[in-house]
Amino acid sequence: MTSPLFSDRLLNWFDQHGRKDLPWQQQPSPYHVWLSEIMLQQTQVSTVIPYYHKFTERFTNIATLAQAPVDDVLALWTGLGYYARARNLHKAANTMVELHQGQMPSTLDELIALPGIGRSTAGAIMALAHHQHFSILDGNVKRVLARHSAIAGWPGNKHIENKLWLIAEQLLPQNRIANYIQAQMDLGATLCTRSKPNCTICPLNADCKAYLNGNPTDYPTAKPKKIIPTRQSHWIVAQASTGEILLEQRPSMGIWGGLWSFPELDSATDIDYTCSNRLSVNATNITSLKNIKHVFSHFKLEIYPHLIECEINNNYIAENKKLSWYKINDALLLGLPAPVKSLIESLQ
Ligand code: SF4
Repeated sequence: MTSPLFSDRLLNWFDQHGRKDLPWQQQPSPYHVWLSEIMLQQTQVSTVIPYYHKFTERFTNIATLAQAPVDDVLALWTGLGYYARARNLHKAANTMVELHQGQMPSTLDELIALPGIGRSTAGAIMALAHHQHFSILDGNVKRVLARHSAIAGWPGNKHIENKLWLIAEQLLPQNRIANYIQAQMDLGATLCTRSKPNCTICPLNADCKAYLNGNPTDYPTAKPKKIIPTRQSHWIVAQASTGEILLEQRPSMGIWGGLWSFPELDSATDIDYTCSNRLSVNATNITSLKNIKHVFSHFKLEIYPHLIECEINNNYIAENKKLSWYKINDALLLGLPAPVKSLIESLQ
């Protein structure tokens, strides 16, 4: 006896166990689907939900997002990580105002042409918001399909990714496309999890090759390991006797692009020189604070903060828009990298 279709089993499972009360499912407009898909990249649903609420309250549609200063967008993104996503959302909103009358375009190619939208995100918008016949291939779906068809090889490899796209397209059902796409994501997030797949109750276990072979967690093949380098950074945490702190806006490109941070140096030997020449800060006392470790996907950062007690000298700062003294409560409203935010909180 042959098993019912992959999609029928998945949809039956979704009807009983799928997630139907996520905030973006209550308003599945193209804007809300886009926003949720971008926030969910590399990020768990439970982390995303409060950010999604704050974001949609402040930016109710594409036009309000486009009109806002990018600094406001980054401020609401603080703590969510991968800040290029926030900058791209803002850029894409502006492109839609310029080229698409402030609406999300309704073809896959036009969506992919927008900053920060790849084929899978575009597919999700087409399927979930427009109910069009498109597949997706996010991390959850890659895992389910790689296991179900026992596709070996790292999915970051184009050749493997293309195989998975082909399978994803072949399995698409004729009807209920939005539910089917959601079902794939839900199965990957709740049953076919990375380290402990719950195969015995999975609706796909009758023909899941990885399960039948007894090695589901061998799929998908892990990314080839490479040793990631460690970099060091020294932060000048200048704090005036009246409590204000000196922050610098980072360049828009590179790590933490456009966010506010403490002025940084490669070496502690340059602290005195930088304080008096670049920052116009006369240090009365310098103390080393506890160092901080932060891991990015491609390197590790060891941060050595140095607390500089000083008085405010505004003459120089006033000419430099990228440097500014902030009261602590005002600083906490800026777009800040997570370690900067924690350090500022500790100075209160
Ligand atoms: S049977 Fe197991 S490995 Fe296969 S799709 Fe289901 S949960 Fe994943």
